[in-house]
Amino acid sequence: MIISRPKEFDEILENLKEKDIFIIGCGKCAKKLRVGGEPEVLGMKTKLKSSGKNITGWTVLSSACTISSWEELLAQNPGIKKAEALLVMSCGGGVSVISRFAELAVYPALNTESLGGVCRDEVITEQCGMCGECSVWEYGGICPVIRCAKSMLNGPCGGAVEGKCEVDERICAWDAIYERLKMLNKGAYLEIVKEPKDHSRKLRRQRT
Ligand code: SF4
Ligand code: SF4
Repeated sequence: MIISRPKEFDEILENLKEKDIFIIGCGKCAKKLRVGGEPEVLGMKTKLKSSGKNITGWTVLSSACTISSWEELLAQNPGIKKAEALLVMSCGGGVSVISRFAELAVYPALNTESLGGVCRDEVITEQCGMCGECSVWEYGGICPVIRCAKSMLNGPCGGAVEGKCEVDERICAWDAIYERLKMLNKGAYLEIVKEPKDHSRKLRRQRT
């Protein structure tokens, strides 16, 4: 799941100079996180209207990043053609896919933060940095690429104080990795010197 959070409404308004707006929500991650489903889209509609915008329509796509036919979407939502801009309440993936087809300005209403998940009502953030070369098993399922402030594949850096990272207030990822591997009886993984990641994989992926 892609973890996104709402932008400040003032920031949205500052970017959104156009008057006629069509709002698009996302029925997958953003809905589950309650940042881009129907209630949030309707809330945004109300706020934009009170700020003087004209809302030409709204929809919640089953998934903003997976659009089967742009023409079909236009036919089902005539308000898109009447709009000067789209406001998309989804992750950056959805905003980018929609921008690829829409012949008008597209603005994000959310900030995309990380790959994570949800278990019951707990939102689990920053679980994967999408390196294209997964070796998270060597770390007991706690990925240092994203969870360690220095992305150290061979940690710890030695700067943690009482389990807290020296860079910010997070729990030291390497403390957590150590405890987890110990619990799994896989402490031997700590002895493996990990080779640097093949960053060309990530670059290749970014080009496609
Ligand atoms: S090793 Fe790479 S793919 Fe696997 S969880 Fe970490 S960042 Fe994601
Ligand atoms: S203190 Fe821990 S989490 Fe912070 S940079 Fe060092 S190893 Fe990484």
